[in-house]
Amino acid sequence: MSLQWDPWDWQNYPIAQQPTWHSRDELDAVRRELSLRAPLVFPREIDSLKRGLARAAHGKAFVLQAGDCAESFNDHSAATIRAKLRVILQMAVVLTYSSGVSVVKIGRIAGQYAKPRSSETEVHHGVQIPVFRGHIVHDDRPTLEARRPDPQRMLTAYDLSRATVSTVKALTEGGFSDLSRAHSWNQDFVASSPEGERYESIAAEIERALHFMAACGIDLSKEEVLHQITLWTSHEALLLGYEAALTRLDPASQRFYDLSAHQLWIGDRTRDPKGAHVRFASGVANPIGVKVGPSMGISDLLDVCRELDPDREPGRLMLVARMGRGAVRDKLGDLVTAVRDAGHPVVWLCDPMHGNTFLSEAGYKTRDFEDIMDEISGFFEVHRRLGTWPGGIHIELTGQDVTECLGGGEEVLEEELSRAYDTICDPRLNARQSLDLAYRVAELLIR
Ligand code: PEP
Ligand code: MN
Repeated sequence: MSLQWDPWDWQNYPIAQQPTWHSRDELDAVRRELSLRAPLVFPREIDSLKRGLARAAHGKAFVLQAGDCAESFNDHSAATIRAKLRVILQMAVVLTYSSGVSVVKIGRIAGQYAKPRSSETEVHHGVQIPVFRGHIVHDDRPTLEARRPDPQRMLTAYDLSRATVSTVKALTEGGFSDLSRAHSWNQDFVASSPEGERYESIAAEIERALHFMAACGIDLSKEEVLHQITLWTSHEALLLGYEAALTRLDPASQRFYDLSAHQLWIGDRTRDPKGAHVRFASGVANPIGVKVGPSMGISDLLDVCRELDPDREPGRLMLVARMGRGAVRDKLGDLVTAVRDAGHPVVWLCDPMHGNTFLSEAGYKTRDFEDIMDEISGFFEVHRRLGTWPGGIHIELTGQDVTECLGGGEEVLEEELSRAYDTICDPRLNARQSLDLAYRVAELLIR
């Protein structure tokens, strides 16, 4: 971070993927109001996440980052949050057992409202309208009027994020995240899954481990580490006015923290090493993720690492590879080697979703479960070959029974996509597909 950094100086850098706001005065008024609001998270919590990620950087923890592609203003109930948390916890139990290390759980939650898009506009019933950029900008309904950017929505995003943070806290601190309970949910899943036989041995081993702990006198319901977990919050830091307004100087450390979420990431479309997003992130103390797509070259990647991690601080930087199943085995290795040789102690994550999206015949944006698994396998292969640690996975999922991605143990077929295609942006794994994925990743980790 250069000395002159301030939370708003990204305005002097080229910026991509921003909405066209219509009123500068209204935008400024909203930013001022946001800057007076209370933080959503606290520096002490962010530091604690960073310590967890530092362990992952050293191969002593595994990261599970998961949640919606885009959270919706219209689907914001405690039940939805509970279902999402439940599936993340269930996955975490399987991953903890199979990785043999602690799992750092980060939700794409409590602020994941802004979306980068590959084109500016789309055509609907013959009318060209602005493309959907997330509920923090406008409504998703495909009309000119609904797609008009409204700065007031940033205040709604803040309010809903705040409500989500407190719901998550109430659940995780109230025993919802109890280890033995999550395990028994998994037993129900295994018992009813067509792949049950395949998963049974892992489930039985976890069962034995729990019995062993109980036999040693550990009361699972009383041990705080087993009874309460932490789900950290994260979102893409895309609307920099929102992020800057929630960035505060921590009096204790004299460092700036973006207090809109614990972790923030920069998307594959905004990772220009000389651009506004990298500039903004370079000055905040939060752990920062950077999406690394197949077009990322070694020199750009090293520039990004230099900007964001000049101190080579473990836990600071997460690189989220989203290559696509066809490119991961060819492209990832050189990038991992270059970053390692440059001395940045990053956590490498695999996002197996964004490089494997295609349109179904009926026009649904979808992903195939086996493509997703193949990219994860490729990611593990590359790290095994190099002797580096596959630090975690980054997944788009929901706790609901949607039909957005194809395949899985209870196979979702192409003609079924229309049944419950509910996403407002990218296709998510449903709860059962997410658990399938956790057991399949467990097989890769145990091997
Ligand atoms: C996302 O994570 O939803 C996303 C848009 O990813 P990427 O920037 O990797 O395309
Ligand atoms: Mn997405």
